[in-house]
Amino acid sequence: MSDFRIETKCIQSGYEPGNGEPRVLPIYQSTTYRYTSSEQMGRLFDLEESGYFYTRLQNPTNDAVAAKICDLEGGVAAMLTSSGQAASFYSIMNIAGAGDHIVCSSALYGGTYNLYAHTIKKMGVDATFVDPDCTSEELDAAFQDNTKAVFGETIANPALTVLDLEKFAKAAHAHGVPFIVDNTFATPINCRPIEWGADIVIHSTTKYMDGHAACVGGAIVDSGNFDWEAYGEKFKGLTTPDETYHGIVYTQKFGKKAYITKATAQLMRDLGSIQSPQNAFLLNIGLETLHLRMARHCENALAAAKYLKNHEKVAWVSYPSLPGDKYYERAQKYLQGGSCGVLTFGLKGGRSAAVEMMDKLKMVAIVTHVADARSCVLHPASHTHRQMNEKELLEAGVQPDLIRFSVGIENIEDIIADIEQAML
Ligand SMILES: *Cc1c(COP(=O)(O)O)cnc(C)c1O
Repeated sequence: MSDFRIETKCIQSGYEPGNGEPRVLPIYQSTTYRYTSSEQMGRLFDLEESGYFYTRLQNPTNDAVAAKICDLEGGVAAMLTSSGQAASFYSIMNIAGAGDHIVCSSALYGGTYNLYAHTIKKMGVDATFVDPDCTSEELDAAFQDNTKAVFGETIANPALTVLDLEKFAKAAHAHGVPFIVDNTFATPINCRPIEWGADIVIHSTTKYMDGHAACVGGAIVDSGNFDWEAYGEKFKGLTTPDETYHGIVYTQKFGKKAYITKATAQLMRDLGSIQSPQNAFLLNIGLETLHLRMARHCENALAAAKYLKNHEKVAWVSYPSLPGDKYYERAQKYLQGGSCGVLTFGLKGGRSAAVEMMDKLKMVAIVTHVADARSCVLHPASHTHRQMNEKELLEAGVQPDLIRFSVGIENIEDIIADIEQAML
């Protein structure tokens, strides 16, 4: 980790050109790398030496951007993935397999819910979903002998639940498993979950990190803090020989980098969800202004939340940084710099009024995306979460009338004016 402050990390971390080298991180648009000795190439394949040999496993552009995200989160190792979904999937499958189990907060992004409730179940990994606001006793009761990880979102998309990170970290550690946090909405500008006990942090870089809705991408960061060997029986994949690499043991050979090295060497090798170097380059440009954009997103979202709160047609508003919000106190603790640019609200006219209002918007667009420079809205019950029944919706913290409003970084008066005319 560098000693820079977070704003400086956004710009300077990850890439340090040598004398006469390009000032801006180059795009290494190459699948392969040349070597003059076949023996050296062999050592790379055995993980006996570190170096590039094929972009499905590693690429210098990607590694520089991963190193920046790693520094922003305060981790020891990181990797980029082709999407946030791939990051969520790898973060679990790197330490769990058929016959295993995970504990998850029920307030999750719809895609993550599908992945953990249905897709990994077909691979033999079961998930127990807990109310993020459950008591410590209820949380403890969700663990089984075969539990391998605990998973939650710092600020849930779209429920906007602020997770009690310390409570979840404590439960995970009491049961000898790592706590994995999806920090997409807060970004490391507003929260660094590792400081609150998270062991692994994942991101959909598609959102604020890229910030321009240009590239789908993901990242996994390891804090290096979880002691895999202390629970070696549970995490045999990390603590016993990997026959596909002549019997190396990840924890012995790579120490604090064991988790990321294994995810690269096995999951990326076999499943191949690598981010393209071109996208990593664009992501890096986004990261250079993350600190500026997050401040404006938060400022605009708070102003929009206050406006909606006072509007006669609005039934309710949810925004963690709005005084009086259910999560206000917790946000003050974990999200001191502000929460995010996303708020949710419902109209007194319910589901049909929501759809009608959205159709009247002129500048604010209806898009699936969230968390980029442009203001946009979405109706999760009709869009991202449409596969869920009413009960599942409510468990995920999504009321049927909920409008997700991703407040951009345009002038706030223009944003509010558009909402105002659509409400008439
Ligand atoms: C969008 C999102 C994801 C999935 O990321 P993709 O990049 O779309 O695959 C995961 N978690 C959260 C919180 C998200 O908002």
